[in-house]
Amino acid sequence: MVVLGAGFGGLELATVVAKECGDAVELTLIDKSEGFVFGFSKLDVMFGRVGAEHVLHRYADMVNPGVRFVGAEITAIDPVAKRVETSAGPFEADILVVALGADLHPAATPGLVEGGNEFYTIPGAFAARDALNDFTGGKVLVAVTSTPFKCPPAPSETALLVHEFLTERGLRDASEISLVMPLGAPIPPSPDASKAVLAAFAERGIGWHPEKLVRSLDPERKVAVLSDGDEMPYDLFLGVPVHRVPQVVAESGLAVDGWIPVDPLTLETSFPEVYAVGDVTSVGTPKAGVFAEGQAAVVAARVVATIKGETADEEYGGRGVCYLEMGGDQVAKVEVTFVSGQRPIGGLQGPSPDLAADKNTFGTERIRRWFGRDWAPTS
Ligand SMILES: Cc1cc2nc3c(=O)[nH]c(=O)nc-3n(C[C@H](O)[C@H](O)[C@H](O)COP(=O)(O)OP(=O)(O)OC[C@H]3O[C@@H](n4cnc5c(N)ncnc54)[C@H](O)[C@@H]3O)c2cc1C
Repeated sequence: MVVLGAGFGGLELATVVAKECGDAVELTLIDKSEGFVFGFSKLDVMFGRVGAEHVLHRYADMVNPGVRFVGAEITAIDPVAKRVETSAGPFEADILVVALGADLHPAATPGLVEGGNEFYTIPGAFAARDALNDFTGGKVLVAVTSTPFKCPPAPSETALLVHEFLTERGLRDASEISLVMPLGAPIPPSPDASKAVLAAFAERGIGWHPEKLVRSLDPERKVAVLSDGDEMPYDLFLGVPVHRVPQVVAESGLAVDGWIPVDPLTLETSFPEVYAVGDVTSVGTPKAGVFAEGQAAVVAARVVATIKGETADEEYGGRGVCYLEMGGDQVAKVEVTFVSGQRPIGGLQGPSPDLAADKNTFGTERIRRWFGRDWAPTS
């Protein structure tokens, strides 16, 4: 079995299959990065809670018996032959899983690289930390540049954390914070969570601009041009860049209309014995780690059952838990269920400091399971 991509989905899948099947499966996990970083750790670094080194989980240090990790770039995928070409040579599989996530393209938004910051790539989030540290007050614009985008709550969390950051530095009175979002509500599947976030924006004086995107920046005039033609001035621009399927997936014939279509219950692609999980798919859940992990768990259960000669009957239920940073050590928890063809539903707990501890446990447990080491996300 070959798993392409050691992110949220690939790590979970490889770990479960290796643990359950032992020597009965030869499992290869391939990734080109130096290590794994949780999405939420990017915000922790950006707002100075921890250093960049702390949040990088190096694949070279991974202790995960049964998983053969190969550090290489995947350059071609043949879903018919179930064969991939990589910078470390070719690999052939009986079962192939594509978990290559979404690639980010800051340069696709005119003016963003020259005149703004993005906080979704790892180097971008670290550079945004420096930009925040150098900021002396003015107009902060947090904005999304295209859809779909990962972790829909992250821009709202960022606006709330910018408020906290500037307040602590005595710069809030000299600043304005605005959020431009393509969605009609901060967390569309959970009206309660959206209400709580909108109340927090109103309380903190954060400007909320729904159902719009920023299409380009004019770095000379320091204005952002919106999808409806309006302009918004900024001194510090924190953007969510354009997301696309990785080039190697686009060239493989697996993607249709930008992303890989899969059976929403089994995560099978249209190619036999080829699965896809997580952000690389158009499965219908938001692009978030918890959903990638849930999909990986289903594929793992199906593969384990097949290898053990049992019936593969596990199906994906579309459930995910999302933690929402509200600032001031307050974290809310949103449980969302997406069922194909039905209206998604989501409930809200908190915010509270207890849920901040819950979120830390979520990170700690995964690093223990995937990398075999102790880690605390924010200390
Ligand atoms: C600021 C921010 C905050 C977030 N917060 C949360 C949160 O609180 N909760 C949550 O659930 N999600 C959160 N997310 C979203 C989450 O990080 C992603 O949705 C999740 O990582 C997707 O998992 P995946 O397995 O599909 O892809 P990824 O985790 O992106 O993994 C894909 C892997 O494929 C590798 N790869 C790609 N192309 C190649 C290639 N050609 N060759 C070799 N390797 C390749 C990459 O190196 C990468 O390791 C956040 C994201 C951001 C940016």
